[in-house]
Amino acid sequence: MPGNLLLIIMKSRILPNSRMLALQLQEKKKKRLAGLTVTIPLLFILVAIYRWLVLGLNPMVLVAFGISYLFTALGLELGYHRYFSHKAFKTSKFMDGLLAILGSTGAQGPVFFWATFHRKHHVHADVVGDPHSPVAPHSEDDEHGDLLHAHIGWFLHTPLQNFGSNIKDLRKLSHLKFINKHYLIWVVLGLVLLTLIIALIFQITELKALIDLLFWTGFVRIFAAQNVVWAINSLCHKIGQRSFRSGDNSRNLPLLSLLMWGAGWHNKHHAFPVSASMKLKWYQFDPGLWLLRLMSLTGLVWDLRIPEKTQIASKSIKK
Ligand SMILES: [Zn+2]
Ligand SMILES: [Zn+2]
Repeated sequence: MPGNLLLIIMKSRILPNSRMLALQLQEKKKKRLAGLTVTIPLLFILVAIYRWLVLGLNPMVLVAFGISYLFTALGLELGYHRYFSHKAFKTSKFMDGLLAILGSTGAQGPVFFWATFHRKHHVHADVVGDPHSPVAPHSEDDEHGDLLHAHIGWFLHTPLQNFGSNIKDLRKLSHLKFINKHYLIWVVLGLVLLTLIIALIFQITELKALIDLLFWTGFVRIFAAQNVVWAINSLCHKIGQRSFRSGDNSRNLPLLSLLMWGAGWHNKHHAFPVSASMKLKWYQFDPGLWLLRLMSLTGLVWDLRIPEKTQIASKSIKK
């Protein structure tokens, strides 16, 4: 048998197995990382609350927690969601890199992971294939959907098959590939640097307050951001009111808009996914849009995509 023919036969037998093994290892690694991402902040939040009850808490630590949460949520909602998943506006390489790093500090997976699953969610919203619908079956044993799976189970169990096939536009960008690859560094920097910067700004030097600061601006911040985003995935497809025909079960929960830069207007978002605006009426709360408008005045972002009044009217449930 000619040597190159033998090589082709060997490759055809070896490569599928080696690819499968690589995929299995990747799955294992991803599941372990996802498990740690969920359990570590949960353990620390319990310790943080215990310390508060037993030792008391410097009120400045809570202020610092609020500020650090706002920055992480900004990276998640304006960066991971409106920009990388939907391209709802345009911005510079520097600004999108900054948004990707800020989003990474939320410990919800690297930017490619987040965008690929979110885009998949919009394509298959509330039908088979949606990674986190509370009303669509997610496995052969499940007929009606599962709120717990939609909230957290999908993050722990969803396989990585076809990972990234819908984010070719993002994978072309070398700076983003770098940020994506070093995701864990941004998570750790978020824990350490945010604590140090805030300690410097608020002049916190006492050891007990510094430990509390690490807990609250680090782990409690991550826990809060994770659960608010995951509540949008789960609760906003289960409870709340609908204003638009979106072809799925998406709903609006204003409280979540208060907590995640306007992202609680989820039914409007599903009706107009590429819109930079999440709100329905001028008086509704969408600080993400307000910030984008402010940034567009200074040239930091541009070409905000906002649907026309006629487009909005055509999908409105109340005519
Ligand atoms: Zn949704
Ligand atoms: Zn979306």
